[in-house]
Amino acid sequence: MVPQGGNTGLVAGAVPIAGPEQLILCLNRMNRVREIDPVANTIVAEAGLTLVELQNAAAGAGRFFPVSLGAEGSARIGGLISTNAGGMQVLSYGSMRAQVLGLEVVLADGRIWDGLTALPKDNTGYDLKQFFIGAEGTLGIITAACLKLYPAIAARASALAGVPTPEAALRLFQAARAAAGSGLTLCEYMEADALALGAAHVPGGALPFASPGYLLLELSTPDSAHTPDSTLEAVLASALEQGIATDAVIAQSERERLHFIAWREAISEGERAEGGAVKHDISVPLGRIPEMVAAVHRLVAQKYPDCRPNIFGHVGDGNLHINIRPPKGQSMAALAPRKAAITEGVEALAVSLGGSFSAEHGIGQFRLTGMAAHKSPVALELMRAIKHALDPANRLNPGKTIPHA
Ligand SMILES: Cc1cc2nc3c(=O)[nH]c(=O)nc-3n(C[C@H](O)[C@H](O)[C@H](O)COP(=O)(O)OP(=O)(O)OC[C@H]3O[C@@H](n4cnc5c(N)ncnc54)[C@H](O)[C@@H]3O)c2cc1C
Repeated sequence: MVPQGGNTGLVAGAVPIAGPEQLILCLNRMNRVREIDPVANTIVAEAGLTLVELQNAAAGAGRFFPVSLGAEGSARIGGLISTNAGGMQVLSYGSMRAQVLGLEVVLADGRIWDGLTALPKDNTGYDLKQFFIGAEGTLGIITAACLKLYPAIAARASALAGVPTPEAALRLFQAARAAAGSGLTLCEYMEADALALGAAHVPGGALPFASPGYLLLELSTPDSAHTPDSTLEAVLASALEQGIATDAVIAQSERERLHFIAWREAISEGERAEGGAVKHDISVPLGRIPEMVAAVHRLVAQKYPDCRPNIFGHVGDGNLHINIRPPKGQSMAALAPRKAAITEGVEALAVSLGGSFSAEHGIGQFRLTGMAAHKSPVALELMRAIKHALDPANRLNPGKTIPHA
């Protein structure tokens, strides 16, 4: 039984494995908002609701749901919880896991676990919902969730800054966080080639200046009396003075702000339109971001000099997408013989710097090799024990997440 939401996952978690007959269980028609509680600031949504529909339902109640990602028109609550999705505002609000207060889950034996509590405090033994969050449908089928809502955003200030190096990007991030605290709600790093791919894919508006790298910053607040514009201006002025930023533009309208975000979100589509890439989703401790970026460029220059790195991501979370594009004018097929070695190299670099080989996309089928190589034997043993306890007949999403489950 393979549960499927929007099927936007990037690791083939919702796709049946080759071999045994499997049933795809699509939850898209379970898409109701069951309840919004404006006192507790919670929403109970069914698994098939899309992320955009959830965001709109929250906005309709004068609230804000903060998880946001490029596939939000298609990705669904069950899939988002089952992958513990991240996206662009984890920095301030946390990933999907941080939003979940309670779950309703159908277990492998058909029983229903009603854990749909809205209680922020409930220390009554094991926190069972955590087993199902990020489990990629291998332990149970999520049918509904109680999620946190936040005050509506009253004002935003966004800027695109040019940064000469990844070190400078990190310093600008630190300066913005020091000034705005949790009011810094978005901080995305993009190398020049990455942003160019995104911008080429969005109609209208050219990049305002050239730079080896860019940082997209957004400050936001629910407080309409104190807009964040002056904070952002001060951070950028100081960064320009210190040479951490070489250029910057502040969005002058909501249209311009959305344009910046559209460029960032279109990078993957632009990359696909230009022939694709071997994709990676790594994280490293924040201070080691520059080392990671430099090490990837070294690896590619030494071993795959004809290939083109495409590096971008949620730098404030230490999470970068390190994609390696085929040689100019060649297709992904040309890269196929080297794909496994490239992935092994990039993942090993992240792990050697104290990082993770899969930061937000999960394991599914595509990251099982990394799981076998890098997850500790004790951790794998614990995961197998949990899988066996909850799904002894291996009915739920076989062949995913745990190698040789
Ligand atoms: C353009 C684009 C941008 C993206 N950006 C981001 C990003 O910034 N951050 C990020 O984290 N991800 C990102 N993703 C990946 C993807 O959108 C997320 O992983 C999302 O959470 C998947 O949701 P889905 O509904 O499509 O799940 P699916 O792909 O359908 O399923 C994902 C996994 O969850 C399981 N599952 C689905 N529904 C249930 C259920 N009801 N109960 C139990 N298990 C279930 C499936 O079996 C599978 O293992 C992006 C994808 C695209 C295409």
